[in-house]
Amino acid sequence: TYRALVLTKDEAGVHAALQTQEESQLPEGDVTVDIAWSTVNYKDGLAITGKAPVVRSYPMVPGIDFVGTVTASQHADWQVGDRVILNGWGVGEGHPGGFAQKARVNGDWLVALPETMNERDAMIIGTAGYTAMLCVLALEAQGVTPDQGEILVTGASGGVGSIAVMLLAGRGFTVVASTGRLAETDYLKSLGASEVIDRHTLSEPGKPLAKMRWAGAVDTVGSHTLANVLASTQYGGSVAACGLAQGMDLPATVAPFILRSVKLIGVDSVTVPRPQRERAWACLAKELDANKLHSVATEIPLSGVIDCAEKIIAGQVRGRTVVNVNHG
Ligand code: NAP
Repeated sequence: TYRALVLTKDEAGVHAALQTQEESQLPEGDVTVDIAWSTVNYKDGLAITGKAPVVRSYPMVPGIDFVGTVTASQHADWQVGDRVILNGWGVGEGHPGGFAQKARVNGDWLVALPETMNERDAMIIGTAGYTAMLCVLALEAQGVTPDQGEILVTGASGGVGSIAVMLLAGRGFTVVASTGRLAETDYLKSLGASEVIDRHTLSEPGKPLAKMRWAGAVDTVGSHTLANVLASTQYGGSVAACGLAQGMDLPATVAPFILRSVKLIGVDSVTVPRPQRERAWACLAKELDANKLHSVATEIPLSGVIDCAEKIIAGQVRGRTVVNVNHG
């Protein structure tokens, strides 16, 4: 048997409870994994609270990320004992996920844990950190370089934001962190931010064009914030958009695109092909400072996930939360 967090749904809404399951309840898949760690992402918060229709069928084990050890494999790429990471692919949404002690998935979805990385660190990174890396690589691909000026990170105290600040500062960029939690200024500066700004300067309806400031940006917030970021991006600058913490809307004009050649780059992490994932994870293993990474982490047992889900949707989680699935 193994323990799992299970979501069910009835007329009253979505319910989450810890259950003991039989191995026979594991889903279809060619690789079985003993999970060591998982992590709580914003999307997991949406799934567990039922705030958005993330889960496609019930009952469902949520958890879009896990790391662990292969215990059975019929997939050519994976052998018993291999240490593997899973991010996305609809796991925790349409296929039972990481808030459990065991998982069975399609081996095509897995990437190898980088040799120099430990399992807990991989889940401090998780989908949030891997998405931050994809955003940084997207800016790099557009030719954004440190000499061009400041880079803005919105939602900076959150998971994607915290790791984006770290990665960009590590690459020599001058990073400006936007947050609603100015009390976290010292935290954001310790991760490498040069300046911390109040997110309210970006979150209200703004003008089509504003004073040019950002050479590039990583936006985790969407809505008016993204519109204002585009309006204040330098001529030819690039904005990587990956999130919707303020809203899914984008109340912008085309002015930044047609008058300043600003580029808006969409970043998805869920269905990225494996080679790009491996590149992102190799960069994460190489670029992240272990001490800084540990400073963004909070550890909880499996039984703490439900409470954390509420908090992440309320914008009250700082940095990253790792889940010890074999505890609690
Ligand atoms: P998170 O830890 O909750 O971070 C989100 C941050 O956004 C919060 O910490 C807060 O930062 C800010 N925020 C929250 N509510 C806001 C509001 N109403 N207005 C303005 N800012 C607000 O979540 P996460 O896991 O980092 O994910 C961040 C976003 O990226 C989410 O929307 C998530 O769905 C998305 N995401 C997308 C992908 C993808 O594949 N595209 C992958 C991962 C995540 P401050 O307190 O610092 O202001």
